[in-house]
Amino acid sequence: MAIYTLPELPYDYAALQPVIDAKIIELHHDKHHAGYVKGANDTLEQLAEARDKEQWGSINGLEKNLAFHLSGHILHSIYWQNMTGDGGGEPLDKDGVGELADAIAESFGSFAKFKAQLSKAAATTQGSGWGVLAYEPISGKLIVEQVYDHQGNVGQGSTPILVFDAWEHAFYLQYKNQKVDFIEAMWQVVNWQDVAKRYAAAKERGNALLLNP
Ligand code: MN
Repeated sequence: MAIYTLPELPYDYAALQPVIDAKIIELHHDKHHAGYVKGANDTLEQLAEARDKEQWGSINGLEKNLAFHLSGHILHSIYWQNMTGDGGGEPLDKDGVGELADAIAESFGSFAKFKAQLSKAAATTQGSGWGVLAYEPISGKLIVEQVYDHQGNVGQGSTPILVFDAWEHAFYLQYKNQKVDFIEAMWQVVNWQDVAKRYAAAKERGNALLLNP
């Protein structure tokens, strides 16, 4: 009984070319993302078994696997929607994403400063990781996070709204070791309408942590 399922891609494998090759998208979605979905489901089953048998010898590993695979599933599910072949540029008022543009300017000083920070955070990941733009509910502002693997180095409660996958599987077939070039190219396929929708939804939920009520 699977709890999580692999979402369909919102476009063809080739839709993001030339920024991302069809082969990368195919493998990344059908193999890597599918692996995280399976991993999350398998881990939940193993935890259920541990509860039933009251056998807790593997609890540390299981909790780590749950965080890894579930976070991988969540980030990839956002990643596909964050991109479009018609994307790129800056979020602008005339495109109906003015609230997001204002929030970026208020939180980072300017779009250029935000872009520099997210680019740097993604491109300088050590090993496997992500650059993430997230809504932080206590301050009501946006922050950039440099995520280790899928789950480390994040502030609890923040909601990812724009995610750059910086794992080698996201670019190596095409960009080889040039991670900086890949991250720079990523800006050409950002779907600002999708990011703006996620910003509005995160803000709407408000201070769900019930801190500083
Ligand atoms: Mn990935």
